[in-house]
Amino acid sequence: MARYTGPVCRQCRRAGEKLFLKGERCFTPKCGVEKRRKTPGDQQPRRRRASDWAIQLREKQKARQSYGVLERQFRRYFGDALRMQGATGENLMQLLERRLDNVIYRIGFADSRAQARQRVLHGHFTVNGRKVNIPSYRVRPGEMIAWKQSSKDAQFGQDAVRSVGQRPLPEWIEFDRSEMTAMITRNPEPSDIDSKIETRMVVEFYSR
Ligand code: SF4
Repeated sequence: MARYTGPVCRQCRRAGEKLFLKGERCFTPKCGVEKRRKTPGDQQPRRRRASDWAIQLREKQKARQSYGVLERQFRRYFGDALRMQGATGENLMQLLERRLDNVIYRIGFADSRAQARQRVLHGHFTVNGRKVNIPSYRVRPGEMIAWKQSSKDAQFGQDAVRSVGQRPLPEWIEFDRSEMTAMITRNPEPSDIDSKIETRMVVEFYSR
């Protein structure tokens, strides 16, 4: 399964803001954006104003990189969003939020989406009692997400379970602390998604 393997912090420096791709490190002074404010590759500061296309491209890249999705798959999400009823930008964000690796990250079972993706790939989670190891799996309302018992008992599982609650839980996910399971109560709505992505620009980028 293809994934981006280049320098991660460079993506944030290119976007000009933190995309929180590395978990805890993003909140320390070691963060690449804190240490090196300069845009990667820029030797001389540019005087030219960025074109509309460049701004739209940057916004699209920001959305794609935040969720750890490669271009071809991201374009497929856009196609799906276009075919759904309602605003395409909102649909796109909903589809990205419903990825299993994102849901694992939102619950707090992983520090970052990259870590969540790896944990899903390694088969540490079940959906409605069945092992699912596909990070792009699209969760649906009524589905129950849980740790595989052996993974929950392992040291990393115990650590992850203890750290749940450090980030606010979205309203569309209901968490049962005694069982350490999470239920998807409904599809995420625009007001549930704490993202600074200008979806209008992403739609404009692909609508050219
Ligand atoms: Fe981005 Fe996190 Fe790296 Fe900072 S530490 S540049 S927020 S990935």
